[in-house]
Amino acid sequence: MEVIKTIEKMKEFSFQARRAGKTIALVPTMGFFHEGHLSLMREGRKRGDLLIISLFVNPAQFGPNEDFKSYPRDFERDRKMAEEVGVDVLFAPEASDMYPPNHQTVVRVEKVTQNLCGRSRPTHFQGVTTVVMMLFEIVMPHVAIFGEKDYQQLVTIQQMTRDLHMSVEVVGLPTVREADGLAMSSRNTYLMPEERKAALSLYRSLQKAKELLQKGERKADRILQEVKGILQSEPLVKIDYVQVCDAHTLQDVDRIEGDVAVALAAYLGKTRLIDNLVYRPL
Ligand code: AMP
Repeated sequence: MEVIKTIEKMKEFSFQARRAGKTIALVPTMGFFHEGHLSLMREGRKRGDLLIISLFVNPAQFGPNEDFKSYPRDFERDRKMAEEVGVDVLFAPEASDMYPPNHQTVVRVEKVTQNLCGRSRPTHFQGVTTVVMMLFEIVMPHVAIFGEKDYQQLVTIQQMTRDLHMSVEVVGLPTVREADGLAMSSRNTYLMPEERKAALSLYRSLQKAKELLQKGERKADRILQEVKGILQSEPLVKIDYVQVCDAHTLQDVDRIEGDVAVALAAYLGKTRLIDNLVYRPL
């Protein structure tokens, strides 16, 4: 596996690869890998002649009071894990190269970023789409792979690539969970043991939502009530939001008629976790 740290070298690599007729798969990440990241890489390994992953803790997607500084980082560990999965290139640019002093351009997707996490993190998605756009320009992938764990992010990137007629295919993969159901996240490392236990209620509440939907419940209110009830029964969980929305537009729905996402965010102490359930009634 090659480690590339400069934008110039990465562009040159991809340019040559494309010229040689190779298909490039990209998995963008912020590192501190877990099985969720590795599942995306394995899929990328299948879909591309070349698998490139980016490791960049993107300052632009963190709010001023968020965890940019304390975000877990371990380059050596990540490098080894990526190598074991068969990554060809680990691209790890410097923030000062990605955002040089006179940088002044952003990519902003409108409607799908406004609800859910967009309410409590107003500049987050703009940070995400801007960096993903840069990564696509630098790495020039044919296919890019993202997790449904960050469902709003996936929908936003799909919207961006459609709206801007970009030629990269965006693929979403299911959330990978711990044995007990907690969605894997680099931020889980922040949790104290009692918080880790209480965090399981996020998964439990979504399982309840799934059960209700499968039994034919079609009122969003009923589902919200049950999900919130389960979360509120855990004193260590503080709800940021729980919403039932259209899985494509991400607008809230009152009745479940098509595909929906039950999405939630909650604090455990200072740690903010998100999870979701995408339900497709067929
Ligand atoms: P991050 O490093 O947290 O920015 O995540 C990088 C990519 O991995 C994103 O596309 C995430 O949606 C995806 N991802 C994170 N956690 C999981 C998970 N538990 N299961 C599947 N994909 C995930």
